[in-house]
Amino acid sequence: MNKRFDQIIVGGGVIGCSIAYQLAKRGYQVLVVEANQIGSEASSAAAGMLGAQAEFTEDSPLFRLAQESRALFQNLSEELQAEAGIDIQYIHKGMLKLAYDQQQYQQLELMAMFQQAMANPAYLLSAEEARKKEPGLSKDVIAALFLPDDGQVSARHITKAFSLAAIHRGAVLHEQERVNNLLVERKTVRGVQTAQAVYYADQVIITTGAFGDELLAPHYTTRPVKGECLALELEQPLFQSTISMAGCYLVPKHGRKVIVGATSIPGQTNKRVSAAGIHHLLTHAQQMMPQLSAAKLDCYWAGVRPATDDGNPYLGQVPGVSGLYTAKGHYRNGILLSPITGHYMADIIENKPVDPLYEENFKLDRQVSHKLEKAGEWR
Ligand SMILES: Cc1cc2nc3c(=O)[nH]c(=O)nc-3n(C[C@H](O)[C@H](O)[C@H](O)COP(=O)(O)OP(=O)(O)OC[C@H]3O[C@@H](n4cnc5c(N)ncnc54)[C@H](O)[C@@H]3O)c2cc1C
Repeated sequence: MNKRFDQIIVGGGVIGCSIAYQLAKRGYQVLVVEANQIGSEASSAAAGMLGAQAEFTEDSPLFRLAQESRALFQNLSEELQAEAGIDIQYIHKGMLKLAYDQQQYQQLELMAMFQQAMANPAYLLSAEEARKKEPGLSKDVIAALFLPDDGQVSARHITKAFSLAAIHRGAVLHEQERVNNLLVERKTVRGVQTAQAVYYADQVIITTGAFGDELLAPHYTTRPVKGECLALELEQPLFQSTISMAGCYLVPKHGRKVIVGATSIPGQTNKRVSAAGIHHLLTHAQQMMPQLSAAKLDCYWAGVRPATDDGNPYLGQVPGVSGLYTAKGHYRNGILLSPITGHYMADIIENKPVDPLYEENFKLDRQVSHKLEKAGEWR
């Protein structure tokens, strides 16, 4: 068994698999070590929304990164179909954000103004216009904001597709193998140690999401934010766009399925789904689309989002250990940010110049200028 690689990636979620694919494409010998199965944590729990506009009300480095990443999806879906034989189910039908009162309407107005100032399409719709677009919407909706460019993918499929495309390009994947320790000699990483073996590489990238923090110094760790979701099955398709209100979203998937998400519970890493969580999601779902009360409850699940103090991911070299990198803390947008993270990290690992705005704001030893928004967010 080969034990020496150019890079070892610790964690096979969407982020680790995207980086593995980009590095393998550039001709490197890559090993991905995954403690469970590919995509078994947050990357299979996600609803798959590509909310590069819906998630932002002001300009920021993260907004720019999200825009760049969203723009990669059309080509990526074709590329992954060719490389991995997997349809990532990229759907480009936009997002509709709903207002039920004046205060929510004003928030949509502000978001529309910001998006238009950024030259992004964003349309404020009256209640009638919104219902013309999606006839199943509740009569209580007073207005909506339509963001036509915010699409969606299947989170499970894109993670699997990145991993298979990486393997297709020569990467090696070890599942059911946890990395217990890093091998570090004289402040330089040499490889990783699992229960089964020791593997060697001059570059190691930690992509363990909300887990695996013991491999990094305490000040670069992430905070877990659990999210619960459920899936409904419809007899007939009811709507096309992703629809959201404060506290809940509905994502229409292939096969007449709808993902309803998501709760937000800081500090929890267990994946238990509570009755209160299900109640919250079903109540809000019916407030948006009353006919959903007739849908079949298909399944439910929970996952753990990796959050950082300022809401920005950690992308870059780990200070103090030569050859050690991390890409972690993508919080609510890891699926959206996965393509750009793969390119960006591969550039950093190859020592290529990267956008100084990103470097300054996503490096691990940055100054944290603002704290993440308060808990209780809806996604
Ligand atoms: C309910 C919910 C809804 C979401 N909806 C969206 C959405 O609509 N759009 C969006 O863009 N994002 C969404 N997200 C966020 C997104 O899922 C995450 O940001 C993303 O999946 C993080 O990917 P990751 O690869 O960093 O982490 P993970 O997917 O958690 O992967 C980390 C991997 O590392 C492995 N690992 C950990 N420790 C070790 C170790 N010591 N050795 C080896 N392997 C290890 C784990 O087993 C795991 O497979 C959602 C998240 C949740 C929970």
